[in-house]
Amino acid sequence: MKELVLIIEDDKALHKMLSFALEQEGYKSLIAEDLKSAHRHFQVHKPDIILLDLGLPDGDGKSFIKMVRHEVTTPIIILSARNDEKEIVTSLDMGADDYVTKPFSMHELFARMRSAYRRASGLNSSSPILTCGSLSIDTQLHSAYKHTQLLKLTPTEFNLLKYCMLHPNQVLVHARLLKEVWGVGYQQEMQYLRTFINSLRKKIEDDPTRPHYIMTEMGIGYRFFCENSSYPKE
Ligand code: CA
Repeated sequence: MKELVLIIEDDKALHKMLSFALEQEGYKSLIAEDLKSAHRHFQVHKPDIILLDLGLPDGDGKSFIKMVRHEVTTPIIILSARNDEKEIVTSLDMGADDYVTKPFSMHELFARMRSAYRRASGLNSSSPILTCGSLSIDTQLHSAYKHTQLLKLTPTEFNLLKYCMLHPNQVLVHARLLKEVWGVGYQQEMQYLRTFINSLRKKIEDDPTRPHYIMTEMGIGYRFFCENSSYPKE
């Protein structure tokens, strides 16, 4: 079955290009140029994935996230024109799943869409072994390996790596990472996070100064790159 993508974008050149590229990739698409028609399309057609521009002629795209999150878990990917970190973080906090900043490559957008869709469809692997490139962890035995070498990780480093591997290719906002790994009350402890990311990079990356796995999303958080995760393939 072809997934239906709702494109909410008032830039005509961009939404034309998007719907063409999506069709080539095997998706169906619908276009809404403002919030009003976005609401209507959403109610009538029940899209599988939503691409959302924030600056729309009749209001802020963020109000759409609020409405949708109230009802369903349909993945929402923000198309952000501005390199505005605050806007992006607010949107993610409100329940958007990911974002791309314009201009973006279709390749990148498709990858984000696939990851978001897989997560939303609840296809997360229930196996205790998670793998990603040369890394693997056993969530039951609390052990991590690079190739077949056992990694000496502290419990916090292990939990951080585990959280990253459970959320591959997804933007991980600083505050959320701190809350998930350290707990409530740590959301502002940026220095903690930086320190542990650095020590984890030293243990898992070939070259910690040019990371392959833990990518920095400037001003927003991190993204754990995983080309072949242990998620089922679509
Ligand atoms: Ca716009």
